[in-house]
Amino acid sequence: MDRVVIVGAGPVGVASAILLAQRGIPCLVLDRYEEPYPLPRAVHVDDEVVRILQEIGVADEFLRVSRPGLGLRLLDGRHRVMAEFRRDAATGPHGYPQANMFDQPDLERLLRVRLAELDNVEFIGGAEVTAVTWGTAAADGSVVAGAALVRYTMIESGEECSVTADVVLGCDGANSTVRRIIGAELEDLRFEERWLVVDGVCDDDLGAWGGVHQVCDPRRAATFMQLGMLRYRWEFRLHPGESTVDVDTLLTPWLGTIGVRVVRRAEYAFRARIADRWRAGPVFLLGDAAHQTPPFIGQGLGAGLRDAYNLAWKLADGDPELLETYEAERKPHARAQIRLAIVAGWAMTGGQDRAAAVRRVVLGAIWRLPGLKGLALRSTSPPLRLVRRGWRAGRLAPQPSVVWEGRTVRLDEVLGAGWATVFSGKASAPLVGRAIEVTPELDPSGVLRRWLRGRTVVVRPDRVVHRG
Ligand SMILES: Cc1cc2nc3c(=O)[nH]c(=O)nc-3n(C[C@H](O)[C@H](O)[C@H](O)COP(=O)(O)OP(=O)(O)OC[C@H]3O[C@@H](n4cnc5c(N)ncnc54)[C@H](O)[C@@H]3O)c2cc1C
Repeated sequence: MDRVVIVGAGPVGVASAILLAQRGIPCLVLDRYEEPYPLPRAVHVDDEVVRILQEIGVADEFLRVSRPGLGLRLLDGRHRVMAEFRRDAATGPHGYPQANMFDQPDLERLLRVRLAELDNVEFIGGAEVTAVTWGTAAADGSVVAGAALVRYTMIESGEECSVTADVVLGCDGANSTVRRIIGAELEDLRFEERWLVVDGVCDDDLGAWGGVHQVCDPRRAATFMQLGMLRYRWEFRLHPGESTVDVDTLLTPWLGTIGVRVVRRAEYAFRARIADRWRAGPVFLLGDAAHQTPPFIGQGLGAGLRDAYNLAWKLADGDPELLETYEAERKPHARAQIRLAIVAGWAMTGGQDRAAAVRRVVLGAIWRLPGLKGLALRSTSPPLRLVRRGWRAGRLAPQPSVVWEGRTVRLDEVLGAGWATVFSGKASAPLVGRAIEVTPELDPSGVLRRWLRGRTVVVRPDRVVHRG
């Protein structure tokens, strides 16, 4: 493949560029801004997503700027604990803490540094993408069949530019231009609430518990968590039509006498929407361009990084049939995560309709239901529904530490960038890609052997179990 053009240098665009460039595919990344979006947004990713960051080459740095989340506490309107669901801060099945709290600009900085290390990626900032054409010849005849032409305007000089691409990735966020260009419509999954998001640095440690606090009071649903040494995030649901809120009054119950410097306050409309098509010819949608979720289970960015990871190896492989599986696999997964976020949000905040006040009194009891408790704490995402004939699995392989060539490493280092077959004892054919025999020497903890139970498992380059 000669070149992939990526529209948008948010976390999903930059992650896509890195994953492709690491597989030897040259990329051009275009963004209307030079620098990453500076204001805080995402604060949580799960261990599956940190595993993707490992592939990208920034996981160790990420662990230095993040902290393990201890779980979820449900509070009543007077901040009394109604229920607590603890998460083990130690390593989970994917080799990292199951919940990781961080500040999105920190992650975006790490991704930009990694991007700059790669030779075959070019980044052009200050470039507004205005048009993408493909398939048939454009008016000036410059498009060859099957390839695309991307037009962009240099914002400062007004210069009109264009570039050809084999594939275009629309990673241009919730108001995606590329989505409009390919004629995709957003399906409304029926959720819209306005929330006030406040990020602050306190003068002193608030002594807060190290997990997410959810105030389950429909009169003023709220979320609170510690992000860094003295960095905190509050989110307050706004009532329909509510325009003026006094932030000091909202923060006082959390702060007591401790002072806070508010680094930003912003109102967000949390929505649940998914694009009806994620592809047209050589143009693909990823990240917020393809799906938007309310942040109650902290999965919006995670879903975008999963898109990037799912698509990168398929593009590198180049098999057209394989590319068909991108939308077919990722769309139901993203939809399931959005639905989970809506249900968890409803269960935590009681919704906003007239019955909400009644529900408030039963919220504590609702959370004793084992299913809902699972919702709050689940870090394992649903299995992919594999759509290609002969593919029969869909869950991720675990990633324990293993001993390889005398060193203790994470399993993915051993699996490598391609397909792998993992087995203990006698392997059943056919072996695909790198063959890894799991012996007690390689797997001293026994995690892999307990997982295999004598099976031969074929693992895709994105660590999804393909057969076994
Ligand atoms: C308050 C809040 C809390 C959140 N909490 C979480 C959380 O805890 N966990 C989680 O996983 N997610 C969370 N999210 C969601 C997360 O922030 C987004 O899912 C993520 O930023 C999406 O990344 P992206 O790269 O797809 O899009 P974006 O980050 O929006 O990047 C899109 C990029 O495209 C560029 N662009 C757009 N149009 C053009 C154009 N025409 N030409 C050139 N460039 C263009 C933009 O400049 C931008 O840089 C939260 C979001 C909010 C708002």
